[in-house]
Amino acid sequence: MELKNKRAVVTGGSAGIGQAIVLDLAKNGAEVAFTYVGPENKEIKRQVESLGRKCLSLESDVSILSEAEKTVAQVVEKLGGIEILINNAGINWDEVVWKMTEEMWDKVLDTDLKGCFNYIRAVAPIFKEQNSGKIVNIASINGLRGKFGQANYAAAKAGIIGLTKTVAKELGKYNVNVNAIAPGLIETEMIQKLPEEIKKQALDETVFKRIGKPENVAHLVTFLCSEKAKHITGEVIKIDGGQYI
Ligand code: NDP
Repeated sequence: MELKNKRAVVTGGSAGIGQAIVLDLAKNGAEVAFTYVGPENKEIKRQVESLGRKCLSLESDVSILSEAEKTVAQVVEKLGGIEILINNAGINWDEVVWKMTEEMWDKVLDTDLKGCFNYIRAVAPIFKEQNSGKIVNIASINGLRGKFGQANYAAAKAGIIGLTKTVAKELGKYNVNVNAIAPGLIETEMIQKLPEEIKKQALDETVFKRIGKPENVAHLVTFLCSEKAKHITGEVIKIDGGQYI
């Protein structure tokens, strides 16, 4: 068990990629707390507990620093500590830049980018004090290459990459690994609302001619949190079936 006795916080763990991350961390031995904002998904907690691990499901909005701090304090109190942070929560609200409203910009930046800062800010003093920790931030290939109709989302995901590299430098001397994952198109709720032609275009871009699964991302997260990845930090790892080569 790669992650036995480790305690993890996963933001946005009630659906899609976050749900797969929660379950894979638990399968590999970790106790897991996850956050959500929509209706509670009790099934995930049940599945984690059936593996013999503790699980906390916490309603908490990532875009508010005080909520992140409260969540982290609850996890420390109920699980006894934190060794792993996975910043996964994210939304998109697409529009061409000349039609994008201030609300669309702010909502996506506050959730996708500020949400990562908020949780890193909340765990950093703990990781510094214990001289160890793992942080994985979920970015996107669209943060690397830009994407028509996603000025807000691509800017947020590009911001995550700068945040990742900076925090890797700042927390490196405290033995904390900080990495980002940049997925291509992954089959989740988030892509259900995309027009068919956009999904087809993404599929055609991949060299495998297939869309990724949440589990593909989850396995990479687990690896980055394991001792096998202890010499990897400040990296952005694409997981996209060759969609952006
Ligand atoms: P989903 O829409 O399936 O899940 C998003 C998760 O984020 C949900 O658990 C949701 O909670 C949570 N969430 C949204 N807003 C907040 C908030 N303010 N506070 C806390 N939690 C919140 O998306 P995916 O699983 O597809 O995406 C997960 C991550 O992967 C995102 O960062 C996304 O940008 C990234 N990504 C996804 C790709 C894809 O093709 N699917 C490609 C590249 C990157 P709730 O269910 O309670 O609303």
